[in-house]
Amino acid sequence: MRIGLYPGTFDPLTLGHIDIITRACALVDRLVIGVAINRDKGPLFPLEDRVAMIEAECAVLSAQTGTEIVVHPFENLLIDCARDVGATMILRGLRAVADFEYEFQMVGMNRALDSSIETVFLMADARRQAIASRLVKEIARLGGDVSSFVTPAVRERLVARFA
Ligand code: ADP
Repeated sequence: MRIGLYPGTFDPLTLGHIDIITRACALVDRLVIGVAINRDKGPLFPLEDRVAMIEAECAVLSAQTGTEIVVHPFENLLIDCARDVGATMILRGLRAVADFEYEFQMVGMNRALDSSIETVFLMADARRQAIASRLVKEIARLGGDVSSFVTPAVRERLVARFA
């Protein structure tokens, strides 16, 4: 049984994340979506809301891909979270060069902590590569239309949050 961990803040879940989740499902039997509590980042949505948004969308994705998807909040070290859920691979999305440097360091450090867990990078479809939660929040805050970047349910939550 191949178990993968896809960690992130998901504040909120975007179509970029969903693209990566769909691709990750093709590689594993069980995909654990690790939702970082990340108090330091001061997320817009509380953990419960971020988890609820992911769970709602993943019910459909799981049925489409046939892969079991589990949502798992975590606050400890990523490598410990991977061990806790029995994951042998960590999946990350790569967008622009800007992501590379951070991810490069993370892989190096995580490998030093546990060399048996491999990090695998995936790229979203070209139309979804530019989507970032940070910009989606900014657009929603200023009253812009985010429907090209998130699902209708997530859009509703953003509109309500900034109403
Ligand atoms: P973090 O705070 O760890 O960056 P995010 O929720 O922003 O968490 O992202 C989680 C993961 O999803 C990261 O690996 C990030 O690179 C990836 N990701 C986010 N948006 C996209 C996108 N549009 N295309 C590809 N990967 C993405």
